[in-house]
Amino acid sequence: MATDSWALAVDEQESTTKTIGNLRIMEAGDANSRQIDDDGDKSDEEEKEDRATQSLLNKLIRSNVVNNTNQVEVLQRDPNSPLYSVKTFEELRLKPQLLKGVYEMGFNRPSKIQENALPMMLAEPPQNLIAQSQSGTGKTAAFVLAMLSHVDPSLKWPQCLCISPTYELALQTGKVIEQMGKFYPEVKLAYAVRGHKMERGIKIKEQIVIGTPGTVLDWCIKLKLIDPKKIKVFVLDEADVMIATQGHQDQSIRIQRMLPKGCQMLLFSATFEDSVWKFAERVVPDPNIIKLKREEETLDTIKQYYVLCNSKEDKFNALCNIYGAITIAQAMIFCHTRKTANWLAGQLSKEGHQVALLSGEMAVEQRAAVIERFRDGKEKVLITTNVCARGIDVEQVSVVINFDLPLDKDGNPDNETYLHRIGRTGRFGKRGLAVNMVDSQRSMEILKTYERHFNKKIARLDTHDLDEIEKIAN
Ligand code: AMP
Repeated sequence: MATDSWALAVDEQESTTKTIGNLRIMEAGDANSRQIDDDGDKSDEEEKEDRATQSLLNKLIRSNVVNNTNQVEVLQRDPNSPLYSVKTFEELRLKPQLLKGVYEMGFNRPSKIQENALPMMLAEPPQNLIAQSQSGTGKTAAFVLAMLSHVDPSLKWPQCLCISPTYELALQTGKVIEQMGKFYPEVKLAYAVRGHKMERGIKIKEQIVIGTPGTVLDWCIKLKLIDPKKIKVFVLDEADVMIATQGHQDQSIRIQRMLPKGCQMLLFSATFEDSVWKFAERVVPDPNIIKLKREEETLDTIKQYYVLCNSKEDKFNALCNIYGAITIAQAMIFCHTRKTANWLAGQLSKEGHQVALLSGEMAVEQRAAVIERFRDGKEKVLITTNVCARGIDVEQVSVVINFDLPLDKDGNPDNETYLHRIGRTGRFGKRGLAVNMVDSQRSMEILKTYERHFNKKIARLDTHDLDEIEKIAN
């Protein structure tokens, strides 16, 4: 994201920020914000929307590729053709205008996924690709480079078509196309997104179209602005988010059916559950397949404790005792409801802590701004509810407090969320500390489930014993 957009996001945050002492509480967000019940319950629709929101949030807060130590798995359609990868952008023989764009974006060398995917995507004749690669691995730049490389700027009609699951995600990808194509001004981009009113029958001249499935379909069929038969590259981004959104799967398939036989099809997805795989196979014939798996998180370097408490006030006192005994650079505290999070933020703030609060009612841009401020160390404590837990890189945070234990929407243990909150990926050798607040028989049972599931001891911590607390920091 451009720096000036960041400045805007922060300005926006600050202009909507109420200051109570040194507590920053966000006002309820704008049209993008969502209402989630205080008990943290989410309907299926909200759960689905979450994936798109999460993906957008990741894009907003990420400025570089995430280091991933997993091997890239490559399955070639033709196993006899030589497998080749590149270590430099020069090796790809990109058009000079594009190479300049790539360097201007600050990319020195291809990311892991780009090393393998780019030669395949730029090959002649064009090859189809299904790639599993999550946010942060450089896949957007990869397919944008492929589109820009295949365009013939002298032809004034759409040749590359990219579909994204949401308006906001389409705009983000559009930005990357604009940045990378900065020195290639003959190539133009059109946004097929809601609100972009077009007249019927006037053929558009832009060579690249990025949009959401519904509008793209309208532009092809109803308004006849695009001749799908002239498309040479088709990109379907975030396939997993796409199929989780009502109607998008069918619309995507309908678009794909209109494309000519030789059209290059590229599909990306962060995850590859069966439903995504079936969809990918329908949309991308004869694919090459590239997989870069998410790095596994582990609890191996985390010291885990639990504290017995009777009430939220009791939990707060325990927290204060921990803060009184050990030096905590930065901590994340997870609460189950917005109400508790707000209350706790107020209490900690009264104690003189610099607190940031992240909750599901905030617009995604506001959330991104809060995360960025926390990352910059402007606040030392980040309090968040379940809805915001995903997608935040906690690597820099040394202490995680589960003020409430993570639960799924039925109130049962949620191993994945527990791991995600407190776990670390292998590349960060740093040790971490996790403290779980247990306030009932039921939460004790849940804690034991986590202990059993991960086969890692969670030791009891007496927060009235300062010496004992001091020991856990060593
Ligand atoms: P993505 O996986 O497309 O969400 O990209 C994640 C981030 O990595 C974006 O901020 C990109 O600008 C950045 N990025 C992509 N490719 C490279 C590269 N080769 N070198 C450095 N940063 C990159």
